[in-house]
Amino acid sequence: MSSIDQDGMLVDPRVQWQRFSHIEHGTLDAVHGIVVHQTDAPSAQATFNAYNGGGNGAHFLIGKDGRIYQTASVKMRCYHVGRLIKSRCLQLKGSQCKDADLATAMTLSWAARIRAIDRIERQKDYPERFPVNSDSIGIELVGRHLDDTRFEALSAQQVDSLQWLLGQLYGHFELDGDDVFRHPDVSYKHPGEAASATW
Ligand SMILES: [Zn+2]
Repeated sequence: MSSIDQDGMLVDPRVQWQRFSHIEHGTLDAVHGIVVHQTDAPSAQATFNAYNGGGNGAHFLIGKDGRIYQTASVKMRCYHVGRLIKSRCLQLKGSQCKDADLATAMTLSWAARIRAIDRIERQKDYPERFPVNSDSIGIELVGRHLDDTRFEALSAQQVDSLQWLLGQLYGHFELDGDDVFRHPDVSYKHPGEAASATW
């Protein structure tokens, strides 16, 4: 079992530290969920180059070869979920979701609707809503999108490393597989992102 040091870095031979302070935005006070992403970049290095510029990023990056990099402290917040989150109630229950505010939101135009849904959802606590940047860890997997609906499949080494990393994070933050989400389930992203990730 790995440990987490005082800087929020995972201590284990399988984890290589490559921390980018530019992608850390204030403290992460609670971890309620884990969001799994794919980079749509050709290599880990391409993502490191983007992280050097600052802005969006996630806590971990898993290369095609299965190498696990920790790119941000798990005590710090990363911007990986996006600005507008989907409704967990609507995603899970569809028409059985009994939320009058959401029902009203659904009558709006698309642009107004997704903003209204985000406002409504952010007033809820996890797990009534999806995890957000302020209570989740992000894991990126190197992989390109192939077309409008598909990303390339995870390599066998990525699958193995993702399973191992999730197991460590479950232990450290008292989570389980129900707390892990693909990015496009949580916010409005390419539908194929992380589709081949399993846990
Ligand atoms: Zn993503």
